[in-house]
Amino acid sequence: MPLVVQKYGGTSVGDADRIRAVADHVARTRRAGAEVIVVVSAMGKTTDDLIRLAGEVSSVQPPREYDMLVSSGERISTALLCMALAELGVLASSFTGSQAGIVTDTDHTKAKIVDIRAGRLTEALQAGKVPVVAGFQGVSTERDVTTLGRGASDLTAVALAAVLGADVCEIYTDVTGVFSADPRVVPDAHKLSRVSFEEMLEIAAAGGRVLHLRSAEFARNHNVPLQVRSSFTWEPGTWIVEEDTSMEQAVVTAVIHDTSQAKVTVGGVPDKPGIAARLFRSLADVSVNVDDIVQNASVHGTTDISFTVPRTDLKTAVEVAGRLVEDLGADDVTSDEDVAKVSVIGAGMKSHPGVTATMFETLAEEGINIDLISTSTIRISCIVRMEDVERAVRALHRAFELA
Ligand code: ASP
Ligand code: MG
Repeated sequence: MPLVVQKYGGTSVGDADRIRAVADHVARTRRAGAEVIVVVSAMGKTTDDLIRLAGEVSSVQPPREYDMLVSSGERISTALLCMALAELGVLASSFTGSQAGIVTDTDHTKAKIVDIRAGRLTEALQAGKVPVVAGFQGVSTERDVTTLGRGASDLTAVALAAVLGADVCEIYTDVTGVFSADPRVVPDAHKLSRVSFEEMLEIAAAGGRVLHLRSAEFARNHNVPLQVRSSFTWEPGTWIVEEDTSMEQAVVTAVIHDTSQAKVTVGGVPDKPGIAARLFRSLADVSVNVDDIVQNASVHGTTDISFTVPRTDLKTAVEVAGRLVEDLGADDVTSDEDVAKVSVIGAGMKSHPGVTATMFETLAEEGINIDLISTSTIRISCIVRMEDVERAVRALHRAFELA
């Protein structure tokens, strides 16, 4: 019997009707002859509500208590889904992350999985039951409840699929798959029927919101075939699989944009060894995730260093950089929130020169100024003004003939 892991996101289990619809789909998958393990997120905006509530009772949120609080949302979904399955005559048991054997390190609010002891899940399967697991959480090596970071229910699903050797991990959400661009910005964007792990990783890192970044990484490392699909239409979605090198690849697969970043510039930094190391070590120490970095050519022995960070980390980044200004012998720190990133991604780029030129020409024709540039082997990203980003996405989608 094939083993399928199905993960349902917050909107997929947003209310009682949705939970019944999901139960129905699980029952149908069982009847079609597959073993099913379900992973659920918290209903709708439950996690956000819990975090807001925490802020209302205290400005001090000990990470252990934060995890105890926010992990409860997923627990509600598991029990309700099991009840809906019982109504349909499907045997099911709910499991918290801890009960499912997901062991993590002790880094509360963003714990890493260190081991999975899935014995109870395999026992449930053997007993003919559907295990329904609370996503995004585990138990630490110190036996405390931990969470794996926002959006990490995907990771729970992928990790379980990997250790249990599932045939497929299906990620159910409120969109029908991964698109060539955000359909709200580019109406003629199309659904990709398959993308490679590498492309998915770049899409997630570039701000494509469909799949959680660490999950894409985990799926690639363990070669877990994924399918992202809609729990509203149930139509076939996007397959994320190993790169098929026997086929001719599209040069550009998708144009992704991200409006969640901000730019920080440290001006007048002495151009000598060790300065960038100090700056970025200090940022890493406070867990600020730096994305693109540019250092200008030095004039008269000083230079500017610019970098982007998630806007939610901007305040911390500016504080950290500000504290270092004197130490570094720099002039000042400035920040800019009116920026956005546009990226073109495609595995075919490796063997096709000229993509960068086309990208820059396209932006030039639109009169869009490029602020920062960064690249990987299959991605080119430009930081542009926020007000220009949607125009940039549409122009690039046209230029690379993705419609
Ligand atoms: N409920 C958690 C969150 O909102 C985890 C998830 O949805 O994947 O971040
Ligand atoms: Mg979610």
